Amino acid sequence: MVERDPVIISGAGPVAMVLAVALYRQGVPFIALEMLDEPFVDQRAASHHPPTIAMLNELGLAEHMIAEGLKSPVYRFHDRVDHEMIAEFDLGDLKDEVEFPYVLQYEQYKLVRKVIELFGHDPAFDVRFSHTVTGFEQFDDHVMVKAELADGSVETLRGSYLVGCDGGRSVVRKGAGIDFAGFTYPEKFIKIGTYFDLTAHDDRIAIRNYFSHPDEWCNLFQVKGEPDKPDIWRFVVPMRVGETEEEAKSEESMQARLKRFFERDQNYEIAYANVYTVSQRVASTFNKGRVLLAGDSAHVNNPIGGMGLNGGIHDAVNLAEKLAAVWKGEGDVELLDLYTRQRHQASTEFTQAQTIANKKQLEERDPVQRKKRLADMRAMSEDKEQAKAYMRRAQLIDSVAATAAIT
Ligand SMILES: Cc1cc2nc3c(=O)[nH]c(=O)nc-3n(C[C@H](O)[C@H](O)[C@H](O)COP(=O)(O)OP(=O)(O)OC[C@H]3O[C@@H](n4cnc5c(N)ncnc54)[C@H](O)[C@@H]3O)c2cc1C
Repeated sequence: MVERDPVIISGAGPVAMVLAVALYRQGVPFIALEMLDEPFVDQRAASHHPPTIAMLNELGLAEHMIAEGLKSPVYRFHDRVDHEMIAEFDLGDLKDEVEFPYVLQYEQYKLVRKVIELFGHDPAFDVRFSHTVTGFEQFDDHVMVKAELADGSVETLRGSYLVGCDGGRSVVRKGAGIDFAGFTYPEKFIKIGTYFDLTAHDDRIAIRNYFSHPDEWCNLFQVKGEPDKPDIWRFVVPMRVGETEEEAKSEESMQARLKRFFERDQNYEIAYANVYTVSQRVASTFNKGRVLLAGDSAHVNNPIGGMGLNGGIHDAVNLAEKLAAVWKGEGDVELLDLYTRQRHQASTEFTQAQTIANKKQLEERDPVQRKKRLADMRAMSEDKEQAKAYMRRAQLIDSVAATAAIT
């Protein structure tokens, strides 16, 4: 059947905007409804892995991101207890296998902003802010979606399909009664951004770093500042179980956290700080009738390894191709089941497995196990073939290849 109604997207975050560009380029009309009144300056994701950059390149987005972001071919693992660098992985070693042999540091809010800057002038690129999706009804050949506006009035929109790109607490997933099994970590994570240039003080620090420590593991990544500002170093560390957001974000506590990492007399200049509740969950299905899920509405994971948004972008690109075919009457509706089979497996077998393993690797408490893990990591980095195999897993290259093979 050839559809007439637009695809309705709940949310205008990064996954929604990539899906919107992919549908737009295939001539499929859409309406994206975003509850906020403007794009959110969201300091979560920044790392884009090689297959993701390739997908964004196909959509005409990568060149802008590369020009404005930071290329990071190398990443390092450190032992925070003994102040020792353990391992270095160089994506340049994969240059014959991938088009973009580096991780690109470019924050998710810049991606959303860029999409709107590039496409927002066209009325067909229909993104509506201050529209909170509150519910929907499915029928055989359409969906009816309810959105509440800033003034409290309610609009009902008719669509062909509804895609939930509305994050971990997705109203669409809940409304469709789709299970979101998994667990939430007892400790929250805090991200602190500082302008203090750590590379000037320790040349072992790369753009992307992971530090192992039994009590306070750490991720440390550099991102490019806004045009008139210096670059920012983002620390992500676990909070104590039971520590409140207010306690963790107090000036004293943030300074103490940063000074434990790198002692200095003066205080750090803090650009921003955010506290996150972190879970590992995957939706039982990514499609139910005319309702689809992509991004955090379908799966959430810890940020160690930078995989959540990458997986969400892989969902969006995969889904757009299938949904466009179905919408145009050129493909069977069964393609939407294939979307679930492919992306559900990518989520559980790659992203979930890898991020859980990444956290265990960094937080190991048993001293003997800890030494063994660090020694294994070092040995793997020193063996070219093992290092390449590791990077294929950690950069989601294997995930994309395995997904494509599912029929
Ligand atoms: C500290 C941290 C660091 C991270 N770093 C990385 C990284 O480097 N790489 C990576 O790949 N991932 C990373 N992630 C994960 C990444 O941030 C998420 O996977 C990503 O934001 C998911 O994008 P999304 O568009 O699916 O959801 P979101 O970014 O949550 O966007 C959802 C959008 O929907 C809107 N919305 C919600 N409900 C409604 C509604 N009812 N109606 C209308 N609009 C609605 C929201 O306002 C929002 O704009 C990190 C996460 C954290 C916590």
